[in-house]
Amino acid sequence: MGKALIIGAGGVASVVVHKCCQNPDVFEEICIASRTVEKCEALKNKLDGGRTKIQTAQVDADNTDEVIQLIKSFGPDVVINVALPYQDLTIMDACLATGVHYLDTANYEPPETAKFEYSWQWAYKKKFEEAGIMAVLGCGFDPGVTGVFSAYALKHYFDEIHTIDIVDANAGDHGYPFATNFNPEINIREITANGRYYENGEWIETPPLSEKKVYDLPEIGLKDIYLLYHEELESLAKNITGIKKIRFWMTFSQNYLTHLKVLENVGMTSIEPILFEGKEIIPLQFLKAVLPDPASLGPRTKGKTNIGIIAQGTKNGEPKNYYVYNVCDHQECYREVGSQAISYTTGVPAMIGAMLMIKGTWMKPGVYNVEELDPDPFMELLNTKGLPWQEDFSPTLLD
Ligand code: NDP
Repeated sequence: MGKALIIGAGGVASVVVHKCCQNPDVFEEICIASRTVEKCEALKNKLDGGRTKIQTAQVDADNTDEVIQLIKSFGPDVVINVALPYQDLTIMDACLATGVHYLDTANYEPPETAKFEYSWQWAYKKKFEEAGIMAVLGCGFDPGVTGVFSAYALKHYFDEIHTIDIVDANAGDHGYPFATNFNPEINIREITANGRYYENGEWIETPPLSEKKVYDLPEIGLKDIYLLYHEELESLAKNITGIKKIRFWMTFSQNYLTHLKVLENVGMTSIEPILFEGKEIIPLQFLKAVLPDPASLGPRTKGKTNIGIIAQGTKNGEPKNYYVYNVCDHQECYREVGSQAISYTTGVPAMIGAMLMIKGTWMKPGVYNVEELDPDPFMELLNTKGLPWQEDFSPTLLD
């Protein structure tokens, strides 16, 4: 049916590649392209022999012309960008130049400032409309499935949603004193930033990790959850009509937070360049180099993740509450695709989004966040492609 160009060959890309190969009727051909071509070849060697034809290519996705050349030579229907957020705009430019659809899992970040905002990518809306091509932004789990869950809740259970709490829990244990579950640079940038949430048309800032609650999560149990800013809050506050309050919560263990505090206090999480032995280095990038590679955590991680949304609102004038969540087991993911649940829960939705685009189910020119698209076909595929979800109509609410 179609061809996908997958850019990146890290933890998430590996899951995308596995899942595309499990669905050869849709993904007849894929090209895995990344900065380090050996990683693409290693993935190809693992999966070659199935019905999906696999090519590899070396590409520096910071360079639009290189991406354009690659798109022209491979001729994909869609580009799945699972490199880093720094490459979003160069890849979108290449898609515009070649008339090819685009999907990613994280919003554009300029390398020098951590902003977590969609402004740069939303600015492409008109250009994509005029070119007759589609961009789907943030199609991982969070952002991604959390937006689909929100759209599904609104479509089926509410007349108005007033409050959404996104709760992201990882009860996985990898046995290292400290490691991040995905790209450490992106992960630490996110956590050390101020918390922020949306209430009554305003954004309210909180000091990093200062808002804490305890929540009893299905299949995981009681966990400390901390208020963070997360990029889907921006698009959901805009796209879920009638929303008054939206917050994002993530679990962290005391041990994780203690390590993070020390690293922060000694300056290792800074993204300000420093001079080291005559060379400029960015402390956070150096820290990434000494921490365990997230891709190596797969075989060691035990336990489950639970990510979902708790929505409060009204239906037929009556108050209504709804919790929808997915529980994912790290070791089951590893058995299936050789990666832990964090990469799995991001890679599966990226594959599903690309599948819906290739099939034409999700297809309209422009730039969209997932909650602007029909959630039903996506929810069906979550159940059949590895991320089944559960519902609770009387959840405990967060005050
Ligand atoms: P990794 O660091 O494991 O992989 C990133 C890959 O991108 C590497 O293969 C890297 O190549 C490649 N890359 C980096 N720069 C370039 C470049 N200039 N040109 C070509 N390739 C490049 O990250 P993850 O797989 O963990 O994350 C991938 C994306 O998924 C990130 O954007 C992350 O923010 C996002 N994400 C989204 C989540 C969600 O739920 N929405 C959750 C988790 C992650 P090399 O091997 O040479 O370094």
